[in-house]
Amino acid sequence: STTSKGKGKDSDLRSPICCILGHVDTGKTKLLDKIRQTNVQGGEAGGITQQIGATYFPIEAIEQKTATMSKYEKQTLDVPGLLVIDTPGHESFSNLRSRGSSLCNIAILVIDIMHGLEQQTIESIRLLRDRKAPFIVALNKIDRLYDWKEIPNNNFRDSFEQQSRAVQDEFETRLNNIQIELAEQGLNSELYFKNKNMAKYVSIVPTSAVTGEGVPDLLWLLLELTQKRMSKQLMYLSHVEATVLEVKVVEGFGTTIDVILSNGYLREGDRIVLCGLNGPIVTTIRALLTPQPLRELRLKSEYVHHKEVKAALGVKIAANDLEKAVSGSRLLVVGPDDDEEEMCDDVMEDITGLLDSVDTT
Ligand code: GDP
Repeated sequence: STTSKGKGKDSDLRSPICCILGHVDTGKTKLLDKIRQTNVQGGEAGGITQQIGATYFPIEAIEQKTATMSKYEKQTLDVPGLLVIDTPGHESFSNLRSRGSSLCNIAILVIDIMHGLEQQTIESIRLLRDRKAPFIVALNKIDRLYDWKEIPNNNFRDSFEQQSRAVQDEFETRLNNIQIELAEQGLNSELYFKNKNMAKYVSIVPTSAVTGEGVPDLLWLLLELTQKRMSKQLMYLSHVEATVLEVKVVEGFGTTIDVILSNGYLREGDRIVLCGLNGPIVTTIRALLTPQPLRELRLKSEYVHHKEVKAALGVKIAANDLEKAVSGSRLLVVGPDDDEEEMCDDVMEDITGLLDSVDTT
């Protein structure tokens, strides 16, 4: 019972992986929350995300949530779902954040429409550009435009049409200013439905994490861009691509690692290699654990055990000797023909970069 089930399509594409970046308080957590319709943020101290998690959105959920888009756009869904990594906007995680974006197929950069570009927005843009990661902008908190009349969970265009002239004007002014700020960072941008050149112009999706307006547009665009432009990257690979997000002690399991499996399979009993503080770690997967569907790893709900999991998903691995595991590290699986020592050297190459980025923040 893995989370990827798809719709039995012939195409064997994996779920695209998306991550959320942006300045603190722009609404990253709330936006995820709105998409999920659960209330993670309410249960968090100060509403600041302190942990890394991943949320899987099965295609049925996406179809339902993008239904209001059908009037404007047609879409065939070929992927089994969407995996969203919840990257927190906390300074101490910039190491993880930088690594995080390399395992993303597409990123959402959240900008508060009332605040425009902020310090961490600019840092995020730099990060995305360094890693050549494709991204879209969620221009969030449109409900805060003075006198905004909400139509919950609606697509943006229909909601926008319902607004008074004054609201529309304020929106245009703010949008314009933010486009200028983006241009100052060397980015051409355009409202996503006016964007004729997605390769050259960053698409902007206006959203409200409170009313849910623009969320259908956001999901639609994520699927559109990943399916149309990255289908090669979404092909299943026989080899494993995986990244350690977090190292955590869990009662009953000892030290575990939270891993994003971007491609391939992981199986109980697999011999794995990853980067450790005092040298490479080679160990054997004792348990593969996932939380209940549509929950985050950090909710500590009951775990489901798996013999095998298939990308893309967030999975917790229990194994011996994980105490010194380094978050951000790649995780490799030793195959019958692989040279274990070579793999150890490979993963340890990461550590220089990982520790460097810790030092500079
Ligand atoms: P994060 O730090 O980026 O994860 O931001 P949060 O999701 O914690 O949101 C920060 C604050 O902004 C919270 O008080 C949210 O309720 C509020 N917020 C987030 N999105 C919206 C939005 O679309 N509209 C309004 N009015 N408030 C929002």
